[in-house]
Amino acid sequence: MASDARDQLAEHLKFFAELGVSGYSKDPAWQSREQRAKSREQRAESKEQEPVRRAGLAPQPEARPAVLATMPDDLAAIRADIGDCTRCKLCRLGRKQIVFGVGNPNADLMFVGEAPGRDEDLQGEPFVGRSGQKLTQIIEAIGLKRQDVYIANVIKCRPPENRNPEPDEVETCEQFLFRQVDFIKPKVIVALGTFAARSLLKTDAPISRLRGRVYDYRGAKLIPTFHPAYLLRNPGCRRDVWEDMKKARALLTGEE
Ligand code: URA
Repeated sequence: MASDARDQLAEHLKFFAELGVSGYSKDPAWQSREQRAKSREQRAESKEQEPVRRAGLAPQPEARPAVLATMPDDLAAIRADIGDCTRCKLCRLGRKQIVFGVGNPNADLMFVGEAPGRDEDLQGEPFVGRSGQKLTQIIEAIGLKRQDVYIANVIKCRPPENRNPEPDEVETCEQFLFRQVDFIKPKVIVALGTFAARSLLKTDAPISRLRGRVYDYRGAKLIPTFHPAYLLRNPGCRRDVWEDMKKARALLTGEE
């Protein structure tokens, strides 16, 4: 094995150990990429046949700006509706761009975060900073790649100084997340942190009370877990996050 690959593997195993992983699954659903790819293809086909496509609502591909070019029509229509949004005060508070969402539009697994931070605001993609690296590790720890899942935030604009989103901002923006969920139709949603869990579950409870249970949400199973930024500050939560991710994995493979 080349030394680069060996280093990568060693790093991977170190993280698994840090997350508290004590073994690995021999279940073929987690072993065979082909099988996973096939089931994704089947889902994509069945989604294409759904009558929910609102023909003509989305911009025509040749007329689309680059940001919309690779999105399915209905997802592009949501992004187009957001436009260069001025619905809440965040547009005047220094945000550089709208951070819509990224990943596989046919994903079975969707992650929902809080709001873009500095790196996300600069790059226009959710979870690309330090929390993003942690999230990517978490995704890989259950045998998936970042591009297999869909990732979005409750709030599409960066709050100044990375402060918490305010209630009017959540209230204005969350409709777009709900539309993204309705389009993606994931089997499992992992809500990252208090704001995501509260917005989706419509509760005031903190994440520490919400996690540990699976909720029914818009046709999906919703698993609240700690935000990767919180995990970075509180590595003691690794085991809880790993338990939540194992639950997500079991739901995805139909073991639960
Ligand atoms: N934290 C979030 O909640 N979302 C991001 O996109 C980045 C950091």
